[in-house]
Amino acid sequence: MHIKASQKNYVRRLFLSLAAAWFLLVLNSAVAQTTNDIGLTQAERDYLTAKKALSVCVDPDRLPFDGVDEDGQHAGLSKDYFDIFSRMLGVKMVVPEVQDWNDLINKAKSRECDVVAQINASEERRSFLDFTTPYFYLPLAVVTRYDRIFVEESLEGAGTQFAVIKGDIAIEKIRQRYPGIALVEVKNNIQAMELVYDGEVFGYIGAQGAVAFAIQSLNLNKLAVTGSLPLRYELSVATRNDEPLLSSAFEKAVLHLDPKEGQSIRDKWIAITIEKVTDYTLLWLTLLVLGTVLVVSLYWNRYLAKANRKIRDTLNDLHDVQAQLEDQNRMFKQQSITDALTGIYNRLKLDEDLSYAIKRSKRTEKQFSVILLDIDHFKLVNDRFGHLVGDELLKAFSSLLVGSVRESDIVGRWGGEEFLIICPDTDLAGCKQLAEQLRKRISEHKFPEKRLLTASSGIAAHQHDEKADTLIARVDKALYRAKKHGRNRVEPG
Ligand code: GH3
Ligand code: MG
Ligand code: MG
Repeated sequence: MHIKASQKNYVRRLFLSLAAAWFLLVLNSAVAQTTNDIGLTQAERDYLTAKKALSVCVDPDRLPFDGVDEDGQHAGLSKDYFDIFSRMLGVKMVVPEVQDWNDLINKAKSRECDVVAQINASEERRSFLDFTTPYFYLPLAVVTRYDRIFVEESLEGAGTQFAVIKGDIAIEKIRQRYPGIALVEVKNNIQAMELVYDGEVFGYIGAQGAVAFAIQSLNLNKLAVTGSLPLRYELSVATRNDEPLLSSAFEKAVLHLDPKEGQSIRDKWIAITIEKVTDYTLLWLTLLVLGTVLVVSLYWNRYLAKANRKIRDTLNDLHDVQAQLEDQNRMFKQQSITDALTGIYNRLKLDEDLSYAIKRSKRTEKQFSVILLDIDHFKLVNDRFGHLVGDELLKAFSSLLVGSVRESDIVGRWGGEEFLIICPDTDLAGCKQLAEQLRKRISEHKFPEKRLLTASSGIAAHQHDEKADTLIARVDKALYRAKKHGRNRVEPG
């Protein structure tokens, strides 16, 4: 029991002291933040309080490292550093308008700038500025056309010229290291890039990162950073040298910079630069691929549509030709089985139908019969009234026959003025009945111009296994008998 109680107490005390330690830690960091505890002296603090706001001069033309945005506000990597400096020193910063680097130097000389945001220390500049320990280092890079190879030796090669920006602090360093170098001093990096682009100088030496950024912003896709020099800008904060408290305060701020924070600022600005390049490349590539696909598919669609139209037209033509051929075939077929004068079936069709009737009768075991009709004394008709009248009478006679038989009976012209009627499923008695009916109707019929005709018929019922020519011979004999016995009569065969 006792042991347990003391253990509980121990845990409670441990917890309380940890909580107190954590609270003190939080309080300490909060105090450090609000009181800007970077070791400023009272004099420095008083100076900054009296100053109210510091005018910070910024090179407007050196993004992503140093620059101003469209509204003239401080931008770029140095802006992030100055947000930290402003917090550390507890003082506001304002950015006066500056035209270019030369304007900035003039304004620094005339004390319009309390601070210069990012600048290389030089002896000459020390006459009007104090410099902190550098807070940002930038290697010197060489920009050439992307297809050139830069080697350090070419810096002293005969006639190989390099562009540098007039007034650039790097010029002195470059000349010291490469005494034989041919430098062409230009106004700004745009002019420098143009000279490289046009091939008037081999390369342009400038701050790494800044030149890469300019290549992207100007979209100079033929230029690239193809090398770097073993030299670097060492960028400090510069303060007007007539106010030493400002210099010492900034030196303390620079020395208190958190290296991790510095790294994340550099990563942020360099990452943006890289991201921009990737985005544009991807965008253009995507557009190019999409465009190509679109053009190819449009062309292909048009080609297919054209080919389809051609095929459709050809198919339509073929259908027309096929229809014409079918019509012609139907016509030929009809013509081949039709008698030209009367329009009823001809001898050919009668022969076919006769063999079909024989086959059918064998299958169905039903008898069929035939009637062979011959117009009486037709020669006289021709002789008396002429052949044309004879033709007309033959036509009228045919119509009369067709109109007088059953649908299933087949009427055709056997030849001249002879007609054959095939009567399926009909025995001799049925056939005789039909033949008599016909005979009567013919003899009573008034043909064109009230002419009268008679006809004689031979009839026969098909016998089992009887051939067509035997059947025809039998009916022909019967017809002959009908003629012989006085005409206008029916004789069975
Ligand atoms: P029958 O009573 O003995 O049959 O005497 P018929 O004059 O009718 O017989 P015949 O066989 O002596 O003469 C048949 C005639 O039929 C002769 C021919 O001029 C005529 N004829 C045959 N075919 C045609 C035709 O297509 N048109 C015309 N107008 N006459 C035809
Ligand atoms: Mg005859
Ligand atoms: Mg006759």
